[in-house]
Amino acid sequence: MTDAVLECRNVTRRFGGVVALKDVSIAVARGEIFGLVGPNGSGKTTLVNAITGFYPPQQGQILLDGQPINGMKPFRIADRGVARTFQNVALFHGMSVLDNILMGRHIYMKPNPLASLFYPWWAAREETAHRRKVEEVIDLLQLAPARDEYVDVIPLGLQKRVELARALCAEPRLLVLDEPMAGMNQEEKEYMVRFILDAQDALGLTVLIIEHHMDVVTALCDRVLVLNNGQQIAQGPAREAIADPRVIEAYIGK
Ligand code: ADP
Repeated sequence: MTDAVLECRNVTRRFGGVVALKDVSIAVARGEIFGLVGPNGSGKTTLVNAITGFYPPQQGQILLDGQPINGMKPFRIADRGVARTFQNVALFHGMSVLDNILMGRHIYMKPNPLASLFYPWWAAREETAHRRKVEEVIDLLQLAPARDEYVDVIPLGLQKRVELARALCAEPRLLVLDEPMAGMNQEEKEYMVRFILDAQDALGLTVLIIEHHMDVVTALCDRVLVLNNGQQIAQGPAREAIADPRVIEAYIGK
């Protein structure tokens, strides 16, 4: 028995003749922020897509809390507690910040009309619990001033924070962040780093993050896997791994 929330064992994924991932293994410990690093086309998104069920691996095993999840549909994996944000913001347009965040609770909102009819106090208690969680996350990410704004009209940095808030409301066992800083200016990046660290602290999160900015990687990540051409070239504590000569060569070679 291991304390890893996520384990990938010798994961391989091909697309036609392209080997996007070859024999990749990681173990993400509970409470850890684990980074996926590597030049463009190195396989980072493919690994995240394998974990979240979008492109299951052809070989290897993926375990969540020790239970195999490879081959499961993405919504089943989400139900098991894997929440994901996307590189390009994926919010519900025409809806407010608050409504977008509430959507994060939907996995807990299983309709139960009979219980609501016969035990209205139960339904009311459920509703209060959802609201409480949403308010906790809104406070944590300082989103209260924007709660009634339409998501379409707020700045990108704030949209990304709303997406993070929605994922946190799902109370994930594993939070997968796909380039959460993409398109942000320096100030927005620094805010986002702070919010992720605060959320990890307050909620005891386990995070897998794809990140390009090395300052962000060293500020956030406990350990990283560095990929190049679908293969591991380094893995270990963030500062050590990204200073590995093979990693520098892979970046300069691009
Ligand atoms: P990264 O996220 O590190 O930029 P990707 O995982 O997106 O890299 O891509 C790794 C390799 O797999 C690339 O050669 C890419 O072209 C290929 N690839 C990724 N997804 C697909 C797909 N759906 N169909 C075909 N090839 C893909």
